[in-house]
Amino acid sequence: MMRSGSDNAPPGGPVHVTRAALPPLEDYLACVRRIFSTHGLTNMGEFARGLEAELTRTLDAPALAVCANGTLALQLALRLLGLNGKTVITTPFTYVATLSALLWEGCTPIFADIDPHSLCMDPAEAARQLDAHPEAAGLLPVHVYGNACDVDALEALTRERGVALLYDAAHAFGSRIRGKSLFAFGDAATASFHATKLFHTVEGGCIVARDPARKKELELLRAFGHVGDTHFSLGINAKLSELHAAMGLCLLPELPANIARRATVTGMYDETLGLAGDGAPGAEGLRRPRLAPGLAWNHAYYPVIFPDGGVRARVTEALEARDIHPRRYFFPSLTRLPYVQSPPCPVAEEMAERVLCLPLWADMAPELTREIAELTRAAARA
Ligand SMILES: *Cc1c(COP(=O)(O)O)cnc(C)c1O
Repeated sequence: MMRSGSDNAPPGGPVHVTRAALPPLEDYLACVRRIFSTHGLTNMGEFARGLEAELTRTLDAPALAVCANGTLALQLALRLLGLNGKTVITTPFTYVATLSALLWEGCTPIFADIDPHSLCMDPAEAARQLDAHPEAAGLLPVHVYGNACDVDALEALTRERGVALLYDAAHAFGSRIRGKSLFAFGDAATASFHATKLFHTVEGGCIVARDPARKKELELLRAFGHVGDTHFSLGINAKLSELHAAMGLCLLPELPANIARRATVTGMYDETLGLAGDGAPGAEGLRRPRLAPGLAWNHAYYPVIFPDGGVRARVTEALEARDIHPRRYFFPSLTRLPYVQSPPCPVAEEMAERVLCLPLWADMAPELTREIAELTRAAARA
């Protein structure tokens, strides 16, 4: 496929960082027909309950509740673990929603810098921040790009200090470590099922809690704190609609094939850029984050770490000129937000300058993948 030309207009339109997966239209329409016949639109009907049951199996989850989005999932999980209003140690290298959820729940976030190889929270930095902030009640790390945090070190640290461990696993759906879903780690973990994510319900998310006895509390948090006329506790509205749940039920069976096809695309990027998941430098000094040992990665994103911000900017410009739009996941480091006062986190701030996620979706054309990889390599060399 030739996308170049005097007007730079690509035949297929702009190339974004990802393209939302869609099920066969007929599959989804069959669900819509059922919904129209029952008038069951929301309030945890057959589709939302069906999705919850399927996800509980897929994620080896002791307790799981689907909800309206990944940000509310974090907010509900913070409440479930009693972290609202408390000091929580988190990472500055994540999507802003990790922080918004904390601030919205009245928490005081403290940033622990990231490991320069995995780009996930550095357990030694987390320990340092726990020493400096003895009032901290919990840790909120992120499994960045579907890579795994150092789950053993973070588990040991939080048990030793007696603080809660909540994972933002928005990127981690389908990733497994030593055969276990990443949702099996921590006191709780949350997912986002936003349309840009590997698995989605258009908008949606879920909370997984380690303690099976807490499912009822999750249900109350999600739906106003009452069942019928009996009011138990404070809740909010975070329910997932039947139309959203139906999308998830249609897409879930395609997940293994989706991951396998993404693996093919990332393999093609790797080949052209000389990169691998061990973090070793490839062509033009580029590298990928180092994947955790024992990780069966979900191939959710294709992050490239450039030698410096100048090379990253040059590559962006070369791709944008062809109407190809990579994304700076994540920029800025959250330490730099205008409404945040934080001491610097030098590693996160440097990585925010150097990282770019290249376009990736399951059925991306090999020609397009190759073209993006070659443009990236050539611009990085220039
Ligand atoms: C997408 C995302 C969220 C927010 O999820 P929404 O479903 O969009 O609310 C939170 N954390 C991370 C790391 C994300 O990537």
